[in-house]
Amino acid sequence: MADIIQLLPDHVANQIAAGEVVQRPASVVKELLENGIDAGASSIKLIVKDGGKALIQIVDDGIGMSTTDARLSFERHATSKIQKAEDLFNLNTKGFRGEALASIAAIAHVDMQTKPADTELGTHLKIEGSKIISQEVAAVSKGTSIAVKNLFFNIPARRNFLKSNHVELRHITDEFHRVALAHPSIAFQFYHNGSELFNLRKANHRQRIVHIFGTKTNQKLVPVVEDTQVVKISGFIIKPEFAKKSRGAQFFFVNGRFIKSPYLHHAVVAAFEGLIRSDTYPGYFLYLEVDPGSIDINIHPTKTEVKFDDEHTLYAILRSTIKHGLGQFNVIPSLDFEQDQNLETPYAYKNREASPPQVRVDARFNPFQEVSQKKGAAHSYKGGMTSSSGASTWDSLYVGLQSEMDSKEDYGSLKIESDTITGSIFESKNESEANIATTFQLRRKYIVTTIKSGMVVIDQSRAHQRVLYEKFLKNITIKVAASQQLLFPLQLSFSKSDMSILNEIKDSLSTIGFVFDKMEKEQIEVTGVPLLVTESEVGIVLDQLISDCQMEVTGESFSQTDILAKTLAKTLSVKTGEVLNSASQLALVNDLFACKETRVSPFNKPVYITITENDIDNKFI
Ligand code: ADP
Ligand code: MG
Repeated sequence: MADIIQLLPDHVANQIAAGEVVQRPASVVKELLENGIDAGASSIKLIVKDGGKALIQIVDDGIGMSTTDARLSFERHATSKIQKAEDLFNLNTKGFRGEALASIAAIAHVDMQTKPADTELGTHLKIEGSKIISQEVAAVSKGTSIAVKNLFFNIPARRNFLKSNHVELRHITDEFHRVALAHPSIAFQFYHNGSELFNLRKANHRQRIVHIFGTKTNQKLVPVVEDTQVVKISGFIIKPEFAKKSRGAQFFFVNGRFIKSPYLHHAVVAAFEGLIRSDTYPGYFLYLEVDPGSIDINIHPTKTEVKFDDEHTLYAILRSTIKHGLGQFNVIPSLDFEQDQNLETPYAYKNREASPPQVRVDARFNPFQEVSQKKGAAHSYKGGMTSSSGASTWDSLYVGLQSEMDSKEDYGSLKIESDTITGSIFESKNESEANIATTFQLRRKYIVTTIKSGMVVIDQSRAHQRVLYEKFLKNITIKVAASQQLLFPLQLSFSKSDMSILNEIKDSLSTIGFVFDKMEKEQIEVTGVPLLVTESEVGIVLDQLISDCQMEVTGESFSQTDILAKTLAKTLSVKTGEVLNSASQLALVNDLFACKETRVSPFNKPVYITITENDIDNKFI
């Protein structure tokens, strides 16, 4: 048989390699930003058009390249960063594979200008699909500028696979965040379609985080630091009370490189255990320094996965460091002398007068008086609406201390363990006739009620989500939402990327009753809110909306109205652990069964189960 094996031509090999290195415009951004950093730049500019499909340009003021190096840099396996295999184990640079430029040039139009500091003139090089189109001497400034146009121009299938400009921009922004967070001592600018998205000056880590994620982030950060033989850890965790329902700010950097590590993530989650709800995620910005010889970053072409020699030890150290940090922030005020003083004012209070603190004393309180709990005092469910506040759960923890002179009739009555059952399973005399024994609340979680064939156990939170969801959906679709004017306009600040999302959903928000007066750079002024939302909830609702929209964008299906209704339902619903009085329980049950769909929550979870008389009978056999 004749020989049939051939070596692939270089441009084909490059295209294949490109498939691994360049998945989307964001991959190009990552590689080029990293090259700028490796070149020792102190300032890097990123210019993007149409989500990176039309143009990605990166301009750095680093060491530049000689004419020969400029040509060579586009060859596969051409790198200045390692010479021998051992160098791989002592890496201090981002690059080392020598694949990025070759791959990018194989699938795009590349225009490079570069000049080292010590030469008068630089080089201007144009390459299209691995072919050099032109090479000229050019009068350019020190450093390198690489413009990548028409990505995937010669692979239509890949180009068609790209998502909307908006989604691609989001991916680019994510990469930009990662690189900028890892290198606060480098200044970064980022423009999209001519408008400036970020202008980050040289800063420390904390300032960089705040400059990227907005002023209000500052108050949420808790510093962590640990120095051991195996690893040095520094950075910040987000205070547990700001934990989000979506994976938001979760950043690990190892030796200045952003990495993904489910294993280390787990260590952080373990440290937060018991401090945040199980359906929320901790936020963190953690910088790990380890001996470069003890890790292998070679295992993934995009270099975001790292193998550690001693993962178990790292896990244990990380977990205890975070626990320690969490334990300290309550006790010891954090002093950070490098902190920007202007970052200090909490956003909601910027333009308000300070009011003297108030101490509320219950004059009627008598510690020697035994009283029973006044049922459901802590929460009101106004026929489908809720003025839910975190306080309600707290109140009920202290019910034993409440003094209720007016509930004399309860003296000596049977005390029900407040955590288990509230409501009227044992009827009390002051309940109105109508409500007697039709519903009761179980473990502050379920509403139990009877039906003809037996009984129904309803998950209170999911039921309320369903009720609110349908209400909001109706409002949005028929655009009739009532709005309540706020007495004082509410000033809220957001990061730039959050603002771009808010701008997109602004119209839908106004159909449900939000009124925005001003929407400027990082500030919005809210003058009206939907009837069901209280003033104190506005910030939470908007934050949640932004993060949900963000998640949905990356997760394809994107119907604004649906996300909006779901988020509002989730955020405003009665939660597990909240006490509902009998009237509220009944109202909730009625509202639920008036819904179009009663069986599942907006998130497709069962809302109730039924237990028939038969089921019960069978248990007694
Ligand atoms: P790697 O970064 O893995 O070495 P690349 O293909 O990204 O591979 O780059 C190849 C080489 O081109 C680098 O090793 C470096 O010498 C040079 N180079 C690339 N970008 C720049 C830049 N912005 N400034 C100076 N040199 C650069
Ligand atoms: Mg590189």
